[in-house]
Amino acid sequence: MQQALKILDEVFGYTSFRHSQAEIIQSLLDNHDALVLMPTGGGKSLCYQIPALVKDGIGIVISPLIALMQDQVDTLKALGIRAAYLNSTLSGREAFDIEQALLSNQLDLLYIAPERLLGERTLELLSQSKIALFAIDEAHCVSQWGHDFRPEYQQLSVLHTRFPDISRIALTATADKQTREEIIEQLELQSADVYITGFDRPNIRYSIQDDGNSRQQLWNFLVNEHPADSGIVYCLSRNKAEDTARWLTEKGRSALPYHAGLNAEIRQANQQRFLREDNIIMVATIAFGRGIDKPDVRFVAHLSLPKSVEAYYQETGRAGRDGLPANAWMAYNLQDVITLRQFIDQSDASDLKKRIEYAKLDAMLSLSETTQCRRQTLLKYFDDHAKANCGNCDNCINPPETWDATEPARMALSCVYRCDQHFGVNYIVNVLLGKSDSRIERNRHHQLSTFGIGTGYSVAEWRSIFRQLITANYLLVNMEQHGVLQLTEKSRPLLRNEQRFELRKQRKPEKTKTTSSSASQKLSVRPQDQELWDALRACRKRLADQSGVPPYVIFHDAALLEMINKRPQTGDELLTINGVGHQKLKNYGTEFLGIINSFPLPELLNNDFSDTVNQTLLLYQQNPDIDSIANQRELKKTTIYTHLASAVEAGLLDAKSVTGLDNHQYQTIINTYLSLDDEDKNRIKPVFEALEGQYDYGVIRCILAENRP
Ligand SMILES: [Zn+2]
Repeated sequence: MQQALKILDEVFGYTSFRHSQAEIIQSLLDNHDALVLMPTGGGKSLCYQIPALVKDGIGIVISPLIALMQDQVDTLKALGIRAAYLNSTLSGREAFDIEQALLSNQLDLLYIAPERLLGERTLELLSQSKIALFAIDEAHCVSQWGHDFRPEYQQLSVLHTRFPDISRIALTATADKQTREEIIEQLELQSADVYITGFDRPNIRYSIQDDGNSRQQLWNFLVNEHPADSGIVYCLSRNKAEDTARWLTEKGRSALPYHAGLNAEIRQANQQRFLREDNIIMVATIAFGRGIDKPDVRFVAHLSLPKSVEAYYQETGRAGRDGLPANAWMAYNLQDVITLRQFIDQSDASDLKKRIEYAKLDAMLSLSETTQCRRQTLLKYFDDHAKANCGNCDNCINPPETWDATEPARMALSCVYRCDQHFGVNYIVNVLLGKSDSRIERNRHHQLSTFGIGTGYSVAEWRSIFRQLITANYLLVNMEQHGVLQLTEKSRPLLRNEQRFELRKQRKPEKTKTTSSSASQKLSVRPQDQELWDALRACRKRLADQSGVPPYVIFHDAALLEMINKRPQTGDELLTINGVGHQKLKNYGTEFLGIINSFPLPELLNNDFSDTVNQTLLLYQQNPDIDSIANQRELKKTTIYTHLASAVEAGLLDAKSVTGLDNHQYQTIINTYLSLDDEDKNRIKPVFEALEGQYDYGVIRCILAENRP
C-alpha cells in the first residue's frame, strides 16, 4: 500500500485516495476479485491502474469503447506509464509490435476490445505473458436488458476459467440492483469484494423544464450559463440535430452535428474537433457520447426526453467529469412522450420487453414531473439513498408551486369520455374552450355539457393539464387510432371525485439575464485571474496540438484553476497541484511556471473580495479615474467608491488618493463623524446628513473605512 500511495503522488500527482479507492486497491493487491460501482468522475480507472503498476506483470483492461482507447493510452503515456491498446483500428504490423511488447513484459497496461480478447490467438498470447490483473470496464454491458448490451461480455467468464489465479476487477458507473446481480453471475464474481460508492454526482446541477419553446429556452440557458463552454445538446432525431446545430452556428456559436446519418469521416472529424478544441457544442442524437471521456464538458442539454432514467443518468453523466461545476439541463414537451411511447408500441420487441420499456419510460416521466428534489428521485431509482434536499437542482433552488387541479382534470377526463374517447388533444381542448368548428358541429359536440366549460383556463394551461394527465397515466394516447385520447383505469377515482390531482404550476420561461450570479453554475475564475487563465489555456492548447492529443491530456481545467489560485513559483510548489506528477513537471513545468511568473498578481488584486469589487479594482489599477470607471462599468459613482472602500479598509488603498480630498476636507469628515452620538456611528447616513450632502456617500465610506475602529 505504501507503494500505491507513492505512485499516486509521484505519477498521478494526487496526495490522497478518494471514496473507496484505497480499499479497492488493497483488495487487488491481496489477490481478491472486486466489483466496483463508482459514479463517473469518481476515479474508477485509478483502482486498476495503480495495482497494475504495483504488481508484477501487465494490467489487461477490457473495454468496448474502442474510440476511447487512443486517448486513454495518450493520457497514461503523458504520465510516463507504458501503455498500449489492441483493437481493430491497428495495422497488422502495429498489432504485432504490441504483442511482442506484451510477451517481453515491456508494458504496464494494455487495453483490449472484448472481441479481440476472446480470439484464441489473444488468449494464447495472454497465457504466455506475465499478467498483473484483468480489469473489465463498463461491466454493465453484460446485461441483456440494458441499453449497452454486448454479447461478447457474456463470454468473459473465460478469464476466470483460463486464468483462475489472476485477480479480476469489474467496473461500472451505471447498474441497478438487477444488473449488479447479472454482472456477478455472468462474470462468475461470486467471491468478489463488492464496492458501491453511490451514484451521486454532486457537481452536476439538474434542471428540467417542460413545454414552451425549447429552442429559445436552450438559447437563454446558453447565454446565461455557458457563454463560452464545451457541451453536448441531445436531440431525438437526426433532422433536429442538424437544424439545431445550424441554428446555433447562425447565432454565433461553434456547433457541430453528430448522428448516425453522417458519413464516418465527418463524424470522426466533428468528434475530433469537440475533443481538441475549447468551446465546441456538439448537437447530437444518442449515437454520440459512448467512448467520449472529455473531462471538461460543462453542460449536457436535452432538447427531448431520454427513454429511461439510466439513459438520462448516463448522458448527463458526461458533464463535469473533472469534478468542476456542470449543468444537466433539459426541456421536453408532450410530443416527446407521445413519440417515445409510439417507438415502443411499434417495435418488434416481445411483450415482456415492451412492458419493461414502458416502465422505464414512466420512471423517466416521474423524474421529469416531480416537484421533489431531482437528485433524490434519481438516486432512489438506483436504490441509492440521498439527503432530502440536495440544494443543487432546479426544484431545490426554486421550488415549484403546485395547485389543486382536480376540477379542470375532471373536466378534461369527462370531456374525453363524452367525445367517445375518439379525439386528440387539440380537438378536446377546443370543445372545452367552446371553440366550435365544422368538425365539432358535424359531431354535435357543441351540444355536449362539457362544451365551453373550460374557458377559465387558457389553451396553454389546458395543454399543460393534458400533458401531465398523459404523463401521469390518467389518459392514454392511442397511436394506432391517430393519437386519440382514451381513459385509463387510473382515471376512474379521479372522475368519481374520490381523488385529488395536484399539478405543477407552469413556470414562466426564464428570461435572459435574470439568473443571479449566486445561482449560476459557471466556473469561477476571478476577474483578476482571467488573463492568467486565458494564457494557461492557450499554452495547454499549443502543447496539446504539438503532441497531437486533446488539451485535457496535458492538464485538466481543475489543475489550471488550482494554479491560478495558488500561483506556484517553483517546481516543488507546482508538484503540490492535484494532477501534477513527476513526468508532467518534467515535460511542462518550465512552460507553465514561466507563464505564472509573467502574470504576477499585484498587491491590490491579491484579495478575497467579490468579483464585482475586483472588476472595479482592476480598472482602478489601469486608470484611477472614478468617472471613467463608473462609465465603463455602467454603475453609479457611489457604488464605485463603495467598492474601493473595501480595499481602503483592507489597507490596500489610501483613502485620500482614492477620493482626491485635501487635508481640510478629509479632516472635516472625520470630525463630523467623531461628533456623532455612539449609536449613529455604525451608519453612514448620519454623517452624510450632518455634512448636508456636500460629500458623496461612497466618498464618506472610503474616509471612514480608514478611520473607524
Ligand atoms: Zn435537489
